[in-house]
Amino acid sequence: MTHRSDEISNTANSLLQLRDALVGEVIGPADRDYDTARVCFNALVDRRPAVIARCLGPTDVATAFDFARTHELEVAVRGGGHNPAGHCVVDGGLVIDLSLLRKVEVDQRTRTAYAQGGSTWLDFDSATQAFGLVTPGGVVGSTGVCGLTLGGGIGHLTAQYGLTCDNLVGAELVSPNGSVTRASSDENPELLWGLRGGGGNFGVVTRLEYRLERLDRVVGGLLDFRGSAVADNLRRFRDLVAGSPPDLSCQAVVALDESLTPALRVAPCYTGIDTDPRELRKLRSWAGLVHDDTSARSFLDQQLVFDSPYGEDRHYWKGHFVGELTDELIDELLDRLLTFGRPPVHVLIESLHGAPKNADPALGPIAYRAAAFNVSAMAVWAKADDDDQHIAWARDTAAAIEPWSLGGGYANYMQADEPVERVRAAFGDDAFERLRALKRRYDPTNVLRRNQNIPPDGL
Ligand SMILES: Cc1cc2nc3c(=O)[nH]c(=O)nc-3n(C[C@H](O)[C@H](O)[C@H](O)COP(=O)(O)OP(=O)(O)OC[C@H]3O[C@@H](n4cnc5c(N)ncnc54)[C@H](O)[C@@H]3O)c2cc1C
Repeated sequence: MTHRSDEISNTANSLLQLRDALVGEVIGPADRDYDTARVCFNALVDRRPAVIARCLGPTDVATAFDFARTHELEVAVRGGGHNPAGHCVVDGGLVIDLSLLRKVEVDQRTRTAYAQGGSTWLDFDSATQAFGLVTPGGVVGSTGVCGLTLGGGIGHLTAQYGLTCDNLVGAELVSPNGSVTRASSDENPELLWGLRGGGGNFGVVTRLEYRLERLDRVVGGLLDFRGSAVADNLRRFRDLVAGSPPDLSCQAVVALDESLTPALRVAPCYTGIDTDPRELRKLRSWAGLVHDDTSARSFLDQQLVFDSPYGEDRHYWKGHFVGELTDELIDELLDRLLTFGRPPVHVLIESLHGAPKNADPALGPIAYRAAAFNVSAMAVWAKADDDDQHIAWARDTAAAIEPWSLGGGYANYMQADEPVERVRAAFGDDAFERLRALKRRYDPTNVLRRNQNIPPDGL
């Protein structure tokens, strides 16, 4: 029996129709670009869509939705393709790919940035930094601005300016029925509330508007520690960020190096007036320091301190927002890394001190502002034969973190197998029900279900 989606991919006529109707590009399985266009960041995900519609604006997006409906194709939405769940690609379905929509414009006078729905953080930061302006974004340049914002957004400026979604002030969205809606504090404010963390559940966002702050230079970079001091340094890291002013964001990655020695990487980003801030002097004084490239630098340079190869490694991530990073939890995390003994597996520890706590909780649906840290077990590996062991390590390590969990995980790091209860817990019951009401309004039949899904009905 021929599957409906196979019929579409084989029916040149249908693709021709879509090619005629779309201003952007249409890529099918027979096209030269098909294999590069379907790759996503996580090599664990290898899917073959029937058609990829590279849209050039809201009208193209509406046309793509219409085509998917007519041909009964499941829809996936692609921004930067970074989501570890691989939600940006679907077997036998239609991908609404926004990678041609990457323009970012800046209004210096109103300190507002207008980003198209497929722009990346490198696009965004390059455009805003040309005017000495920023919004807090992600730490890897190729990550999608929209995908990251819709899931929250933690990075080098979180303590200073809050989550990325806290800085979203407007959006233009195409719903699966093809209608275009604008969201701002004046127009459809409930939709804007939902977009500040509720994910890609309500439509395809073609344009986003952000509030900008003045920032040229930071003191940042990376410090690497090795050996027996790592456990103590993690405790010091915890205490340092707990007592640090909101002009210092700081993240930590704990892992083993190739010789299976404990390794801690700390990434501070200081934006205050000191040229040699006290907190960085403290960090440099800790035992086991093997590398320190912290210095005054442009924010664009700070945004280059992390990188991650695209589409090469297999990833499985799972974690929790914790109320505290206890000595016991630190020992547990190191113990699990040592017992597994397979770098580059690591644990990412992101601090939520400063601005996320001071933001108005009514801004958006997310419930984890009270957390001290987001602690994520990140399994990274190369061979398919090692899938089961690595996935089990990430799950077991997340289970070990769970006793300290405030409930729910970080939507931006969730795999596709997370149960709806975890998504619900990331928002809390009341906000989740409000999100479901929005979902019933903008996507009542759950066309957009390849995401951290807010089901319109039932559970
Ligand atoms: C290397 C790496 C670094 C990362 N760094 C950070 C970080 O510093 N901080 C952080 O908070 N997170 C980070 N993340 C997680 C990242 O924020 C999420 O995975 C996010 O979903 C990626 O968005 P994307 O557009 O790149 O991904 P995609 O896989 O393209 O999109 C993910 C989902 O977002 C939705 N979406 C994307 N664009 C649109 C749109 N225009 N309209 C509607 N829905 C849309 C869709 O549901 C889509 O399935 C990182 C991930 C990776 C792999």
